[in-house]
Amino acid sequence: MITVQKFGGTSVADPDRIREVAAHATRTHRRGSDVVVVVSAMGKETDQLLRLAGDVSTTQPDREMDMLITAGERKAMALVAMAITDLGMAAQSFTGSQAGFITDTTHKDAKIVELRPDRIVRALEAGVVPVIGGSQGVSTEHNVTFLGRGGSDTTAVAIAHALGADVCELYTDVAGVYSADPRIVDRAGRMPEISFDELLEMTATGCPKPAMRSVEFARRHGVKLHVRSAFTWEPGTIVTLTPESTEPEMEQAVVNAVTHDISEAKVTVSGVPDQPGIAARMFTVLADAGINVDMIVQNTSEHGRTDISFTVPHPEAEQATELINSLQGEVGAAGCGFDHDIGRVSVVGAGMKSNPGVAAKMFQILADEDINIEMISTSAIRISCVIQQADVERAVILLHTAFGLDV
Ligand code: ADP
Ligand code: ASP
Ligand code: MG
Repeated sequence: MITVQKFGGTSVADPDRIREVAAHATRTHRRGSDVVVVVSAMGKETDQLLRLAGDVSTTQPDREMDMLITAGERKAMALVAMAITDLGMAAQSFTGSQAGFITDTTHKDAKIVELRPDRIVRALEAGVVPVIGGSQGVSTEHNVTFLGRGGSDTTAVAIAHALGADVCELYTDVAGVYSADPRIVDRAGRMPEISFDELLEMTATGCPKPAMRSVEFARRHGVKLHVRSAFTWEPGTIVTLTPESTEPEMEQAVVNAVTHDISEAKVTVSGVPDQPGIAARMFTVLADAGINVDMIVQNTSEHGRTDISFTVPHPEAEQATELINSLQGEVGAAGCGFDHDIGRVSVVGAGMKSNPGVAAKMFQILADEDINIEMISTSAIRISCVIQQADVERAVILLHTAFGLDV
């Protein structure tokens, strides 16, 4: 049996935590499973390193930024390996490069192109616990690369897949995936299990745990995920391919979770000529600039003109607006502006597929509280509304109660 155990920043934030994590990995090994540990940087160190770079440099060359950020994980992995060794168990730390993570050459957000885990396999064969620095690799041009924020989850899932591990355990500071952000909803409950489909919708709409890329990877390759606490060590949330098939007689809840996201701004293009090819032109320009467009809504047309709104990450709103404005002559839009003060609330649940009226209920709950809906988007198992940012926390609490999720 092989268990991959990934520990987030808070789980290894100080010496006591590092010793506890080491004790847990050792315990798991002594109970009969090979263990591979993946670590994040200690506490908020990644943020500190980013700030430090900002204090020193205005140019922040990509190559040096990745070298700097990955130092956080490098520190943590060596300390965890030492702490395990102190418990009488052989352990060795490995950088992403040493662990065989080959990436593309995109700095700050590199993609894994190949994984050659030979050294990790040999360590396991020798009875050693490998401790891998998360979120890093080496590019095809031999530079150190960072896999992006939250990338340690991806490191863990990828190594679990490459080794054929039985489970990938993602340890964090809460006991699993909750029905809403426990920092906002006191009465949110841990979900004992959740389907990959629902979890993907949750992570795509603001749930930070686990990182979305790692969930996509795990689903594609069938890696079993267990999200759990590094503080209480109690069983957490098991992510399953099809929970429905395991308990077919159980009635599915219509809504299983409420998520929220305040990381995006809304861009509105007004007075766009209602003609074929205009939207294609605008969104091609945004895509070519690498701007990550999320929700898109087009209003009904009046006098041959329409409004188009879309959301983008806050730091990209201004550039998106400038790009659209630069197309003015060509596209013939009346104007373009952005609004940072928005947020998105979403309800997620597989039972929605066979239950009409969920959207109506969500809109009514918001309307009853005088919360105005600015944009709507749906999937088969999710409904999202863009509202004013100031209303987001209240909306999450209200929806959680109204959909019967309070515990
Ligand atoms: P780590 O650094 O351990 O990888 P993060 O700090 O990125 O983890 O994410 C964990 C945090 O996510 C928790 O402290 C919790 O407050 C927050 N969170 C928000 N929404 C949820 C949710 N629905 N379920 C679980 N945690 C959530
Ligand atoms: N330490 C990095 C971050 O905070 C990578 C990770 O923990 O996943 O984003
Ligand atoms: Mg984190």
